[in-house]
Amino acid sequence: QRLAEKLELLQSRLNEMEKEVSDSRVAIEEQRRRASHDHLTGLPNRDAYQKKLEEELARRHRYGSPLALVVCDVDHFKSINDTYGHLAGDKVLQLIARSLRKNLRDVDFIARYGGEEFVILMPETNAEGALLAAEKLRQTVEKSPFNFRKERVPITLSFGISEFHSLESPDTVFERADKALYKAKHEGRNRSCMA
Ligand code: GH3
Ligand code: MG
Ligand code: MG
Repeated sequence: QRLAEKLELLQSRLNEMEKEVSDSRVAIEEQRRRASHDHLTGLPNRDAYQKKLEEELARRHRYGSPLALVVCDVDHFKSINDTYGHLAGDKVLQLIARSLRKNLRDVDFIARYGGEEFVILMPETNAEGALLAAEKLRQTVEKSPFNFRKERVPITLSFGISEFHSLESPDTVFERADKALYKAKHEGRNRSCMA
């Protein structure tokens, strides 16, 4: 009888411990997700992008496959905030994140790089292919009706595109994409430029 009771006690302790382990696992997973994802949009953050980039570059070295980099920046976002408020601005960022996810391939890696800037890594894609994808996205977002408090809020995006050449550092490629973005802005925004 005593042994049976002891066994039951041990069993219940074991169950408790198993639950604790599983709760900690969930908590660790959640913490990991929070560290690598942006809270507002749910997209991977800049840290996650750096990590992914290293992986993709290693793969590229091994197989020599093309890899395109796209930087995307919301046009006149400051004035969206100023005109409609910060809350509307936040909603716009969420809408854009959703649109990016919906309109790009599953293998494309999309991250929120900073405030109103996104980066996209497109494996097996050269700059010309990335330009087509960016243009499709740009037109989709331009046409998406976004209303805030019954007012139509126009949203447009500008894109800078480059592709990785062998022996180039990630910083160099990013710089080229960023320069192309600057050109897109300079030429009037709501357009894509290739470096
Ligand atoms: P441009 O067309 O040249 O890109 O102009 P812009 O106004 O988009 O660029 P600028 O860099 O001047 O402004 C970016 C603005 O984005 C300023 C900042 O307050 C806003 N911003 C950054 N992060 C957030 C955010 O998480 N939520 C909101 N609502 N606004 C943000
Ligand atoms: Mg910006
Ligand atoms: Mg901007």
